[in-house]
Amino acid sequence: MLRIVRTRAELREALATAPRPVGLVPTMGWLHDGHRALIHRARTENATTVVSIFVNPRQFGDPADLEKYPRSEARDIALCTEEGVDLVFAPSVEEVYPPGFDTMVKVGAVAEPLEGAARPGHFDGVATVVAILFDLVGAEHAYFGQKDAQQLLVIRRMALDLALPTEAIAHPTVREADGLAMSSRNVHLSPAERAAAPVLARALRAARALHADGERSAEALRSEMRRILAEEPLASPEYVSVADTGTLRELDAVTGPALLSMAVHFGPTRLIDNEIIE
Ligand code: AMP
Repeated sequence: MLRIVRTRAELREALATAPRPVGLVPTMGWLHDGHRALIHRARTENATTVVSIFVNPRQFGDPADLEKYPRSEARDIALCTEEGVDLVFAPSVEEVYPPGFDTMVKVGAVAEPLEGAARPGHFDGVATVVAILFDLVGAEHAYFGQKDAQQLLVIRRMALDLALPTEAIAHPTVREADGLAMSSRNVHLSPAERAAAPVLARALRAARALHADGERSAEALRSEMRRILAEEPLASPEYVSVADTGTLRELDAVTGPALLSMAVHFGPTRLIDNEIIE
């Protein structure tokens, strides 16, 4: 039976007697099949599955972006019920950030490039809320999507440095049939933008193919991704990156694993995608 809790105290009380291990899936709601895959994985690897649903204001730079973020708790709870979730933590902003809240978690170098550079303060908000969730839930395992590759590195750094015992587990990106990575933000795409959006996945595939053919110049892979993105007039690329999978520093030569990633605007909607090449 699914139980919904809204306060820190109720959450701790519900977890005090929960069978171990506990798996946590942190989300901002508007759940889709990407979240579903994380929840399913958590269910198979843990005795108790906790899903948090919290649109975290501190990770949004733009108030308009926060305002229009899609929400439907009823729909999210229905999905959690279907998936056999044990506990949903759906707190208010005041419950997560008590009055006078004045502590932030700031991760260093790995949070700086890419999404960190494009969205100042974003990862401070992410690291802070995940530190609070890790502490409140005390899960053995927490599940994150590979779609937010940098987020995963930031959280692993944070958990190691702050001695939080929760292990962050990565799950592959779940995609629509045409390759578009599932995202709560896809709902904002107009029909024409939706039709154009699979260009991110196509650009990643093209770069991967070039690499498989023996290309080792990172700049050649970036150019290939930019070339494919340029074929789509509705797509405005923000960055295209070929970076070290551990440090996220841009590479010159691809001699080992590399993270191909990009952020692309379609009108007011910003999409990200990535792929690791081995
Ligand atoms: P969000 O609700 O967008 O903050 O995402 C919550 C978690 O779900 C994060 O760990 C995301 O990386 C993950 N996630 C979002 N979209 C996908 C996807 N298409 N495939 C796999 N995981 C995803």
